[in-house]
Amino acid sequence: MAETRRISRTTETVTGGSRRSEALISLRGLKKYFPIKTGVFGRTSGYVKAVDGINLDIYPGTTFALVGESGCGKSTTGQVVLRLQSATAGSVLYRGENVFDASEDRMRTLRKEMQIVFQDPYSALNPRMTVGAAIREILHVHGIATGLEAQDRVEAVLVRCGLQSHHVNRYPHEFSGGQRQRVVIARALALDPTFVVADEPISALDVSIQSQIINLLEDLRSDRDLTYLFISHDLSVVRHIADRVGVMYLGHLVEVSEKEEFYREQLHPYSQALLSAIPKSDPTIQKKRIILRGDVPSPANPPAGCPFHTRCPSVMEVCKTVKPQLRPTATGRYAACHLVHPPESGKDKER
Ligand code: SF4
Repeated sequence: MAETRRISRTTETVTGGSRRSEALISLRGLKKYFPIKTGVFGRTSGYVKAVDGINLDIYPGTTFALVGESGCGKSTTGQVVLRLQSATAGSVLYRGENVFDASEDRMRTLRKEMQIVFQDPYSALNPRMTVGAAIREILHVHGIATGLEAQDRVEAVLVRCGLQSHHVNRYPHEFSGGQRQRVVIARALALDPTFVVADEPISALDVSIQSQIINLLEDLRSDRDLTYLFISHDLSVVRHIADRVGVMYLGHLVEVSEKEEFYREQLHPYSQALLSAIPKSDPTIQKKRIILRGDVPSPANPPAGCPFHTRCPSVMEVCKTVKPQLRPTATGRYAACHLVHPPESGKDKER
């Protein structure tokens, strides 16, 4: 523990800008590679580099939004942070403690404090259990409450999430999509967590109810002082809920900014392209859509140099050989791009 505390203090501001408080969650050099097996004997012939060396800090009571196209590694990052998948390298520090070093016993306690809300509420729930039974079971497993006390807690958390106490007796198929996601959120909150990974929590819902779930998540955050890692491909939704935004591309974090600064001006060409695709609410505002060339390269065979260079409208010769690192600007924002940090500084690596 002493060692991990020391790590936390010395790297406290990796992506924290001018923040003074200690991070609740810190990712350091986090990697997740999936082996590619070939042949009859299942020989490993390569790796899909889903997450390829991420550093970031998430501060208490805030929402950090991780955005990017589908397949960029953001959901894998969320699952590795909670140890739902093992990491290939790196560490995740929760209050300074390396989650990957935690024993099974310690992990049971940490799981109470670190919860996840999945994208598809239907598959996240057991169709054969009433929602009351499902949430009571979790309270029982974690030794929080049993019997009448558990029943009272379940009803209270369902009501707090916008449902009614008699819903405890209903099965998942008896709810609408929005109500089911409320149930999933209630189940996560029943354990009174401090940190929640919300993995595309509204993308499976009708547009008409997406804002209700976002409002619920925001209310719960202020009521319970929650900290969110909010994973989404939808930058118009992120604008409503995030405090800080991190943009992922091909397993790398390419920009981290405070929300207001990010939506005012994006530093990285990939962020600029993503933002240019959002419809403007005011039709009188003219803006040019940036169309990216080609497809996202395979994470099994990422390009040399900057991972975005095969699609970047501003690509330079140096981008094809020298990989830009995520580094701070003078204003405390972070970007991995040679336009922002010219490579003469010698801090970027060839590969
Ligand atoms: Fe584009 Fe080069 Fe910046 Fe990569 S480093 S985003 S290729 S300008």
